[in-house]
Amino acid sequence: MSEFEKIKNEILNCSFCEEKFGFTPHPIFWGQHNSKIVQISQAPSNNVHLSNKPFTDMSGRTLKYEWYKISDEEFYDTSNFYISALAHCYPGKDKNGNDKAPPKCCYEKWIKKELKLVNNEIYIIIGAKAAKMFFPNKDFEELVFRNNVLNEKLTIVLPHPSPLNKKWIKDHPKFISERIIEIRNILKEILKD
Ligand code: SF4
Repeated sequence: MSEFEKIKNEILNCSFCEEKFGFTPHPIFWGQHNSKIVQISQAPSNNVHLSNKPFTDMSGRTLKYEWYKISDEEFYDTSNFYISALAHCYPGKDKNGNDKAPPKCCYEKWIKKELKLVNNEIYIIIGAKAAKMFFPNKDFEELVFRNNVLNEKLTIVLPHPSPLNKKWIKDHPKFISERIIEIRNILKEILKD
C-alpha cells in the first residue's frame, strides 16, 4: 500500500476529536495523489457531514456553478480536484448556532502530512481562516486580488462562498466583475489538459 493510501485510510478512520465534538466524527476525504488542484477550505458543513461529499451545500453551489462555472462531473473528478480543509470533519455548532472553528489538531495531525503527498499543479485556498494558516502575515484582500505562491506553486485565494459571507462580496464588487473571471480562466487552462 502506498504512503498516500495508508494516510487516507488512517484519516477515514480517525475519531480523535470525538470527545471535543460530542458526536462521532465523520472525516471527509476527496482526491488522489496526482490531483491537479489542491483546494483547501475551512471545515465541512453539517450538510457535507451528512452527505459525505464535499461542497454539497449552499457554499458548494456558489463555488461550483457561479464562481468556477464547472459541472459536478469536473469538480468531483479526483484527477482534477483534491478537496481538503483545515479539518476533515464537521465540528458541530457553538452556543450561538454557528459552526464551530475547525479543530487545530487536524492540520498538524493529517493535513500537513497529506498535502506533501499530492503532486498538484496549483492551490486554491478558500476563506480568511485558511488563508491565515498559509499566509499568516498577509492582508486577506491583497491575497484574493493577486496570484500568490505556495510551495513554489501558483496559489489562488478566494473569499468563502458561504451565504454568511455576502457582505464581503458586496463590499468588493471587483471580485465578481474582474477577479473571478481571471481565476476561471486559470482553472480552464488547468482542467483542459
Ligand atoms: S477533525 Fe481531523 S483530527 Fe479531528 S476527528 Fe476529524 S480527521 Fe480526526
